[in-house]
Amino acid sequence: MQPVLLIRYGEIALKGKNRPFFENRLLRNIEESLKGLEPFQVSFRRGRYYVKIEEENLYAAQRRLRQVFGIVSISPVFPVKLDLEEICRQALQLLKNSYKPGMTFKIATRRANKNFPYPTPEVNNLVGAYLLKSNLELKVDVHNPEIVINIEIREKKAYLYSQIIPGPGGLPVGVTGKGLLLLSGGIDSPVAGWMALKRGIELEALHFHSPPFTGDNALHKVMDLCQLLAAYGGNITLHLAPFTEIQKEIRLRCPEPMLITLMRRVMLRVAESLAAARKLPVIFTGESLGQVASQTLENLAAINEVVSLPVLRPLIGFDKEEIVNIARRIESYPISIRPFDDCCTLFVPRHPVTRPSVEELRRAEEKLPLEELIASCLDNIETKQIEALR
Ligand code: ATP
Ligand code: MG
Repeated sequence: MQPVLLIRYGEIALKGKNRPFFENRLLRNIEESLKGLEPFQVSFRRGRYYVKIEEENLYAAQRRLRQVFGIVSISPVFPVKLDLEEICRQALQLLKNSYKPGMTFKIATRRANKNFPYPTPEVNNLVGAYLLKSNLELKVDVHNPEIVINIEIREKKAYLYSQIIPGPGGLPVGVTGKGLLLLSGGIDSPVAGWMALKRGIELEALHFHSPPFTGDNALHKVMDLCQLLAAYGGNITLHLAPFTEIQKEIRLRCPEPMLITLMRRVMLRVAESLAAARKLPVIFTGESLGQVASQTLENLAAINEVVSLPVLRPLIGFDKEEIVNIARRIESYPISIRPFDDCCTLFVPRHPVTRPSVEELRRAEEKLPLEELIASCLDNIETKQIEALR
């Protein structure tokens, strides 16, 4: 019989009265992630989701579901008739799929249907004995088996599974709200975005580019990063903001050591206006502490000072190595290390300020036509819808 994917969720089970809201959103996200693999059918029963899908799409579906936040684990489940012989045969098939000579196994039966003629321990024994009689080299180990054959005896059918594939955990994207991610082409901001998605935030992204100093390759890199994030978080609206004029003016009129801090202050002002227009109540960045001279507490404070929206920095507690590890795992790393400059790597001051005085920054900004620069940047934002690359 055709296998079904059983999907388990975790944290959302704790959400009390909001539970249906969380469960519906996860259902929608599951359906969304399977787009293109039609026909399929997703149902929800007693705290679990079941996906019916053509066998040839089963593997692709599993791969996609491993990126849907809120999912704790996935098992391909094989339904059979309520008949001991059928159960035995399917159990043997499952074992064969991951067989190694000398393998240890255990049968774990749950009997929700009390009318089934065999009690639970007897099902375990009978199916176990059947497997031991096969021509495979097997041993029972009830404490630490290499494979567990799970058998669930329900009203109409028995369901067997052995594989438990971990999902990404977290909360379904969309349940905690929306945010604007400042996305550079670097290693950190995609990871920060992934972490925001993991906590259920739906994202739009804002990228500043500086043509002609930054080229199409840099743009493609950012779009590819968005495609990657979209596989975890659904389609992403990407806003591309021109930063060339702003950078030129800052460089022309302001002291060199302040360049980065001043650029960030302008980026955040633009981000805040865009966020207001898009009704996004928080901003996310990939900043962490102490990685580079511009990421001191004083600099972060000076950057925050220009906006009133909360600026969240999911990477604040991470070492670079930990960030790189996540980047590798979520596969953003190979995209991030493509050697194309973004606007910030172009004009790096030799000695950036580490303890900027807000007074001095404000004085430097007085020399800039700030309002016009920001208005013109906002007016010229180009917006794209980025879909997940599957
Ligand atoms: P990343 O790897 O994300 O670029 P980083 O460690 O290189 O981070 P910075 O380059 O100082 O740090 O950037 C700090 C943060 O500012 C980034 O994580 C990102 O959120 C934001 N940012 C930097 N450059 C851009 C840009 N061109 N467009 C949008 N956001 C940017
Ligand atoms: Mg960077």
